[in-house]
Amino acid sequence: IELDIVQFCRELVEEMQMITDSHTIHLNSQCESSEVALDEKLLRHILINLLSNAIKYSPTSSIVSFNLNVDAKKVIFQVQDRGIGIPKIDREQLFQSFYRASNVGTISGTGLGLAIVKRAVDLHCGNITVESEVGVGTTFIVSLPYESS
Ligand code: ATP
Ligand code: MG
Repeated sequence: IELDIVQFCRELVEEMQMITDSHTIHLNSQCESSEVALDEKLLRHILINLLSNAIKYSPTSSIVSFNLNVDAKKVIFQVQDRGIGIPKIDREQLFQSFYRASNVGTISGTGLGLAIVKRAVDLHCGNITVESEVGVGTTFIVSLPYESS
């Protein structure tokens, strides 16, 4: 089943923004609409986890940027925050169950979100990477291949 990924992301951001007073979520998309064969449930799962982390690990009133790019074979999502960042030493283990970085302080969590995201991305032959600087911010980049019809 084809899904308009741009429309889907717009609605998701709207939904997240409705329950989030503390941050502003900006969606940037290269195109107006794009049909892809990707599972909605899978996408929701991945994106809600990443957006929730971006909100949780960044200061009140800061901006979370959500960039969407679609090429002929894959969809690329980037979720960027201006938050606490992730120390280099923790980055290898981030996707392991129950792992939490050394700088979380009093921010609560179970350490499961990213492990589940990683598994979902792997199952769909996608890729997830992270770029981060402590005290500056973090960007998670997910690419998911889709069947083109
Ligand atoms: P939960 O299971 O409730 O999501 P969690 O947020 O602690 O708990 P993950 O989402 O798996 O767990 O993230 C693992 C760890 O990666 C976090 O504990 C945190 O240390 C780090 N992390 C994830 N996203 C960010 C981010 N955007 N900025 C800074 N650190 C992050
Ligand atoms: Mg989380």
